Amino acid sequence: MAIAIVTGGSRGIGAAIAEKLASQGHDIVINCASSVEKAEAVAEKCRAYGVQAVAKAWDVADFAACDAALKEIKETMGVPGILVNNAGITRDGLLVRMSEAQFDEVISTNLKGAFNMLRLCSAMMLRAKTGRIVNISSVAGVAGNAGQVNYSAAKAGLIGMTKSAAKELGARGITVNAVAPGFVDTDMTQKLPEAIREGAQKQIALGRFGRPEEIANVVAFLASDAASYVTGQVIIADGGMGI
Ligand code: NAP
Repeated sequence: MAIAIVTGGSRGIGAAIAEKLASQGHDIVINCASSVEKAEAVAEKCRAYGVQAVAKAWDVADFAACDAALKEIKETMGVPGILVNNAGITRDGLLVRMSEAQFDEVISTNLKGAFNMLRLCSAMMLRAKTGRIVNISSVAGVAGNAGQVNYSAAKAGLIGMTKSAAKELGARGITVNAVAPGFVDTDMTQKLPEAIREGAQKQIALGRFGRPEEIANVVAFLASDAASYVTGQVIIADGGMGI
């Protein structure tokens, strides 16, 4: 069993991923930006599976903070075998009205944050000659989405990062894959206007938003031995929205 780091694990999809990986016997580090109490509550649920679980806040967009956190994790728990880059934010707005700050914040957290963690964890995994990395992209990164030029650019960037890293790291036994969820019921989609939520639902073959656990199941597969010959892939989990 491995040590798994889940960024943005205090709520939503990340919390479901942390619990799923814990249920499979992995020790878990639950990262968040600031809601440490929520992250600690997730850690408590993980510990019920008999694994070690710690909650820790740091900003994934800050390379030095990621470096310090990883050094501490290595010393106290060991080298991570699984990294799930899940932390993400939205700062939606139409292109003509999107501010530079809206663009920069989303790129810093969603894209550079994943780079920071990938860069630092892969260096440790290379020495261990094993590792599983899963990046949480989005269907917005595959097909684009009006009002999300910043977000879809970051999520498309994650797909390129996934494929390049898979090519670099594959020979050393490390797989790198992405999951691209459609609409999933979390705080992120709760804040969408009702008209957009209803319109989106009509496009989904399964007729409903996904549950965080349904994304966690895909991540758990990619992080497992069962996916040992899968790398550089983007698994779309959107209830058939894109077909
Ligand atoms: P969410 O409920 O809004 O939770 C976001 C998580 O990211 C929280 O744990 C938050 O921590 C953390 N976070 C934000 N900025 C961070 C930073 N700078 N450093 C560290 N952690 C940070 O989001 P979600 O809906 O579960 O989404 C999770 C991932 O799936 C995101 O990458 C999102 O883009 C992607 N996704 C979501 C959907 C969807 O429909 N929900 C669809 C496609 C893709 P705090 O609690 O401390 O703020």
